[in-house]
Amino acid sequence: MWTLVVNGGSSSLKFALLESDSGEVALSGLAERLGSDGASVRVDRGDERVTVPLPRGSYPEAFGVLLAELDALGLRERVRAVGHRVVHGGERFSAPAQITPEVLEAIRACVPLAPLHNPANLAGIEAAQAAFGELPHVAVFDTAFHQTMPQVAYRYAVPEAWYSQHGVRRYGFHGTSHAYVAGEAARLLGRPLEELNLVTAHLGNGCSVAAVQGGRSVDTSMGLTPLEGLVMGTRSGDVDPGLPDYLARQAGLSLTQITAALNKDSGLLGLSGLTNDLRELEQAAARGHAGAQLATEVFVYRLAKTVAGMAVALGTLDGLVFTGGIGENSAAVRAATLARLSLLGFRLDEAANAGAVRGQAGPITAPGSVPALVVNTDEERMIARETAQLVAGGP
Ligand code: AMP
Repeated sequence: MWTLVVNGGSSSLKFALLESDSGEVALSGLAERLGSDGASVRVDRGDERVTVPLPRGSYPEAFGVLLAELDALGLRERVRAVGHRVVHGGERFSAPAQITPEVLEAIRACVPLAPLHNPANLAGIEAAQAAFGELPHVAVFDTAFHQTMPQVAYRYAVPEAWYSQHGVRRYGFHGTSHAYVAGEAARLLGRPLEELNLVTAHLGNGCSVAAVQGGRSVDTSMGLTPLEGLVMGTRSGDVDPGLPDYLARQAGLSLTQITAALNKDSGLLGLSGLTNDLRELEQAAARGHAGAQLATEVFVYRLAKTVAGMAVALGTLDGLVFTGGIGENSAAVRAATLARLSLLGFRLDEAANAGAVRGQAGPITAPGSVPALVVNTDEERMIARETAQLVAGGP
């Protein structure tokens, strides 16, 4: 089923028209700088790329260009459904949902949990509904996959009322990616997903690890917000919860400033003082840059500790999956992580690891090792698949 996948960000809008079974992409694109001067939308159709300015810089304007492109290519009639990435579905959504006024209201109710993301997702949905009013629209939530976590994994040791009255618990994110790569790993391992205990590591600009038991998430490293857990590009991951109070008193920073710094100035960028881009850090580390070396070492150390923690959640381990820009491309991060995890039974195949780059999925461990694999994530394809399944199966 040809499905339009829409991912609305705060100032960007990504879209792709793809066939949910084969994954064939007919058209994709990205609108950027929405809401400000100089907004434009880029559309990729096969080998061709066009960029169209958006004078009003609005979502509806971006959809207008998309509609015109679909018409020009004769693709509009093919579109059967629209799938939307929605970051936070709270406890309400454990699966994709066909968008109704009530579902929209529930997504709006989750805005306090994701104040930057959910409003942008809502704006994308509204503009898409105006442009494709006659089609079914489906919301696919980043949090939904992790709703199978047991309480022991999702509850914080804080006053119970914070949970019952304010929803303070661990939700987890990147669910679409974790679910997709777990399925792909099972296929590559030639075993049914239902039998496998897998740890999936989504390592991009945002990073998270999940423990996936028989295809269901039983633990993950992100929490109430996507700030918890691993070291990321610009996010700190775990810090002492006493840090904000200490810094407020010592440095006179406000809570807003501290939260912004933990989200935007920390992680690989904060540790290295250089960049959030791991590829650049690897180059700088090779030239002897001490901050770059430290940043990558802390990144790997924390990743390995977290993967080992996820093995505890699973009891036994049948495989570790690396995905995301870093997971798919950095042979050095994969090798250093597996070296730290030798106690879990990993033994690297250096040649396979060196050869596994984007576009080449497969195992990177030696015979007899617990398998570690590189899998290329494809969130758009997963959203298209889930949307098509829901639409084909009825509401
Ligand atoms: P993503 O958010 O999934 O696009 O991932 C972005 C991260 O992947 C950035 O830190 C990039 O530096 C990193 N990355 C992309 N390509 C490479 C590469 N060839 N080697 C190392 N890191 C890479």
